[in-house]
Amino acid sequence: MTKIALVTGASRGIGAATAKLLAVQGYAVCINYRVQKELAEQLVTQIQAGGGKAVAVQADVSLEADVIRLFDEAERLLGPVTHLVNNAGALFRQSRLVDMELERFNRTLQANATSCFLCCREAARRIKQGAIVNLSSVAAQLGAPFEYIDYAAAKGAVNSLTKGLAKELAGQGVRVNAVSPGLIYTDIHADGGEPGRVDRLASQLPMGRGGQPEEVAQAVAWLLSDEASYITGTIVDVAGGR
Ligand code: NAP
Repeated sequence: MTKIALVTGASRGIGAATAKLLAVQGYAVCINYRVQKELAEQLVTQIQAGGGKAVAVQADVSLEADVIRLFDEAERLLGPVTHLVNNAGALFRQSRLVDMELERFNRTLQANATSCFLCCREAARRIKQGAIVNLSSVAAQLGAPFEYIDYAAAKGAVNSLTKGLAKELAGQGVRVNAVSPGLIYTDIHADGGEPGRVDRLASQLPMGRGGQPEEVAQAVAWLLSDEASYITGTIVDVAGGR
């Protein structure tokens, strides 16, 4: 079977690391990006230079029409998607819940939960045999007080979606799992208003350090692989013991 992986939000961070690893493992990879076209195209060039197969497709995965177009385009360029990594996610400036506007709360749900729902639904309609991995966060268990309760709640929705869909698709040969990263060195923390957040908190972690995007990518790739053939509905923490 030709394995075709769609990785959402893959222009940088964990998504880019995952796309690179999957390409090395022999997947043809569709790199989705929203605005960072140049980074996505650089990644395609890098994968192709290493002998891999990749294309970049722009889409805002929080929008229904974009998601349908993304799957259509991936299929047109590479063939039907067999593996999906719902990696796209976003958080906004650190804030207490009392100070949060409704518009921001809804935007966070749209970016993290609605996007995951839309891509999962499209995959459930199209993938005959394969696997899905959703990027959650340990914030779903911790609640992210004084920082991003909205984001934690959205990732809680991702966990529930993962569990339920895994059961719905178990009989049809599609496994659905999630990876829950802890504190990983990516630019997402700068978007939250604190670029040095991982270093500030690293010494409080049981392993005493933050994680690298490549360490998360390994867990995603393993859950997608046949080596995880009896695993579905599971949430794997990649959080250094957090
Ligand atoms: P990142 O460096 O900020 O990358 C996120 C990527 O998602 C960007 O390429 C961004 O592209 C894309 N994206 C955001 N919204 C999108 C949308 N609506 N449509 C398409 N693409 C979109 O983040 P990361 O740290 O690698 O995080 C990856 C995933 O892991 C996220 O789901 C995140 O919540 C989760 N996670 C990360 C950490 C961590 O410590 N880094 C911890 C727990 C969970 P644009 O810039 O073009 O929008």
